[in-house]
Amino acid sequence: MTAADFRKILHRIDRRGYKAYKDLKGEYDFGEYILFIDHVQGDPFATPSRVRVKILQAIAGFPLDTYHNKSREVALRDFLTRRFAESSKRFCRGRRGTGNSGIISIDRPGQEILERTSSFISRDYAEARFRMGLPAFGRKIDGKAAAIMFFEELPQILKASLFYRNLDDKKLYRHIEISEDADFLRDRLKNLRLVAFVADGAILPRASGVDSRPLTKGRVVPFESPESFRIEVTLPNMGAITGMGIPRGVTLIVGGGYHGKSTLLNALELGVYNHIPEDGREFVVVDPYTVKIRAEDGRRIEKVNISPFIANLPFGKDTQAFSTEDASGSTSQAANIIEALEVGARVLVMDEDTSATNFMIRDHRMQELVSKEKEPITPFIDKIRQLNENLGVSTILAIGGSGDYFDVADQVICLVEYRPYDYTKQACAIADKYKAERMPEGGEYFGRITERVPLAHSFDPSKGRKEVKISTKGLKSIDFGTHRIDLGDVEQLVNVSQTNAIGDAIQYATNYMDGTQTLREIIKNVMKDIMEKGLDVLSYNPAGEYAVFRGLELAAAINRLRTLSVIKKV
Ligand code: ADP
Ligand code: MG
Repeated sequence: MTAADFRKILHRIDRRGYKAYKDLKGEYDFGEYILFIDHVQGDPFATPSRVRVKILQAIAGFPLDTYHNKSREVALRDFLTRRFAESSKRFCRGRRGTGNSGIISIDRPGQEILERTSSFISRDYAEARFRMGLPAFGRKIDGKAAAIMFFEELPQILKASLFYRNLDDKKLYRHIEISEDADFLRDRLKNLRLVAFVADGAILPRASGVDSRPLTKGRVVPFESPESFRIEVTLPNMGAITGMGIPRGVTLIVGGGYHGKSTLLNALELGVYNHIPEDGREFVVVDPYTVKIRAEDGRRIEKVNISPFIANLPFGKDTQAFSTEDASGSTSQAANIIEALEVGARVLVMDEDTSATNFMIRDHRMQELVSKEKEPITPFIDKIRQLNENLGVSTILAIGGSGDYFDVADQVICLVEYRPYDYTKQACAIADKYKAERMPEGGEYFGRITERVPLAHSFDPSKGRKEVKISTKGLKSIDFGTHRIDLGDVEQLVNVSQTNAIGDAIQYATNYMDGTQTLREIIKNVMKDIMEKGLDVLSYNPAGEYAVFRGLELAAAINRLRTLSVIKKV
């Protein structure tokens, strides 16, 4: 079928009932590109129709060095999605007629550069996946408006965003090179025996709690590494940069209230992602297996062995396979740690602001008043070294409220008016001078991480007559069948398209749930499939609204499904 055929169909269905739009489904050769109508919306108010375009490389013309490795490819695709969105704003007149009539929209990236299914690139073609609100007045097809959208607006958008010759190539290369450098830097951490790196000059604070663009109002203090932590790294594109390297082990971030502790910590936890140019955090990176841990009271827990932290609960409640429908602050924080370790976390990031106090500390006086036998919780301070020594897991902890932690820290970074200083020596001296009288309570070893085997029957995505109904309700919640998964406290989830993909990945993961594979093995298999075959494995249709996520977040979602049922690994 050709563009002329497409026009004929539009002409034929003009002014007919909306359902006649279904006749458009199929693929059409538009000369410079192929148009695919993958799915037609049921009515003008429904989510707009799924449309795809493939342009031959002979016409799109992207030089090979814009995508010759994975890093560059992901950054280029991210760039194309952003250009498409901008061009659509410019060339599409937008809503006209009933409901979503007239819209042309593509997935919306934020400050992070993520692999997404909204655009693709290969030696053969450039591809964009987006949505179009097929126009109607009332419920009658507006064929004229549709013709304008497909024959005037869309070609303009495509020309401005998917034709290399029309792009600002300086900007494009900068996008690609910065992202490639960030990947390189993150890869280097391991050899440098670091868990994180924060570049000199980085801008860490954000515009507001709900706006993740960089802070520009008022005085903004660029990051400047303490001399003793400063290292130099030579990046493939930007050349040599300097910044603060955070070594493995236990790192405390201390300092007075409002001096920037949480801001630094938040930048670190999002250092698992690459950021766009001018974000300020382009060269702030952490170990890719870094997990933000926090208290999350109210969450459900399914047979997690939290005994390294909590034992001897009242009435003999089991903590080697601890379950609850309504966790407390401390039990939820313990479970969040154990679940993260179960699926391969290597660095834990914690903030006193979002931690349970009784999970973090138990001082001398409290030990005197409430004996160990009467306190189920072994505080984190007594486990933090074992985590490192027994399991090789590092911790970065922002804490301004307890100097007891000086005893267990490898390095202490103090923020004073947003500037970091190396206070390790001072903290050691103080720890020597004022001996903490508290008794260590953590025993000799961290304890065993018990792997769990999730059972497929506990995942039911059906709702009413629909066999599979999985839908994303904003960034932090997924409706899986009739159950809502609350991801409100899963802080390293940054984009709703990740949430989308995770929803479908849960369902996909059940393919591996054979009653013997552990959650860790299942996650590994799912992530391997995605690595090898792309995010499209998660869907029957070519979806345009997936973004890549980590196995750690997939596990977090599964762990928060309220119907989850597991057995112990045999
Ligand atoms: P803390 O955790 O130590 O109490 P925060 O990290 O919450 O402090 O920071 C307090 C405020 O200071 C926040 O509003 C934050 O945006 C701002 N801020 C943080 N870092 C900087 C910086 N480098 N320059 C300017 N303002 C900053
Ligand atoms: Mg804080």
